[in-house]
Order: sequence, then structure tokens, then C-alpha cells
Amino acid sequence: MDKSLRKQKRFFIDRIAKFCDKCGSAYHLSDIQVIQDKGPSAIIHFSCRNCKSSNVANFVSPMGFTTRIPINSDLTMDEFPRFASGETVSLDDVLEVYICFENGKGCVKI
Ligand SMILES: [Zn+2]
Repeated sequence: MDKSLRKQKRFFIDRIAKFCDKCGSAYHLSDIQVIQDKGPSAIIHFSCRNCKSSNVANFVSPMGFTTRIPINSDLTMDEFPRFASGETVSLDDVLEVYICFENGKGCVKI
């Protein structure tokens, strides 16, 4: 991990969450992943090494404003950015898949 990434992760731990909300264990630099850091907003994934709970935080730097959302997911910390940067699934997409399975057909488009 390069020095600037370590410094960035330390900043987010100090500003957003030093400890896990669920079990109180301290976060380490390797427990967080910066998913997106564009412009004034950053999205950070926190994963507790003790209880395995996950949180996603949105940090808006000009105001120092943070929202943090606990998530229940079986995605690993490495998998999370892949899905977070993907296209949004629309309701029509969900209905299309449902109909494919309902009809017993394969979903070729997916
Ligand atoms: Zn925990």
C-alpha cells in the first residue's frame, strides 16, 4: 500500500469511523477500501475483521458531512467495487428476468 493511500485511509478512519458499530473493534487500514473518490464525494467500504459486518460511508469533503449505512451482503471487500461501479438494474430488467424464469426459458440477454 503506497503512502498516499495509507494517508487517505487513515484520514477516513479518523473522520468517519474508528470502531465497528456492531462489536466495537478498532478498524485497521486494511479493513477499509476506497470505492470511489471523485470530486467532493468519496464512497468508502468498512469491513470489520472481528464480526464481519460491513458499512458503506459517503463522505462529502467540503462540508465534512458523512452518511454511513450498514449493509448485509456476502460480497467480499474486493468484489464490492465491481458491483458498485456497474450499471443500475431497472425494474424492467428485474421483471424481464422474472418472466424468463417463470416461463422456464433461459435468459440469453443476461
Ligand atoms: Zn465488528
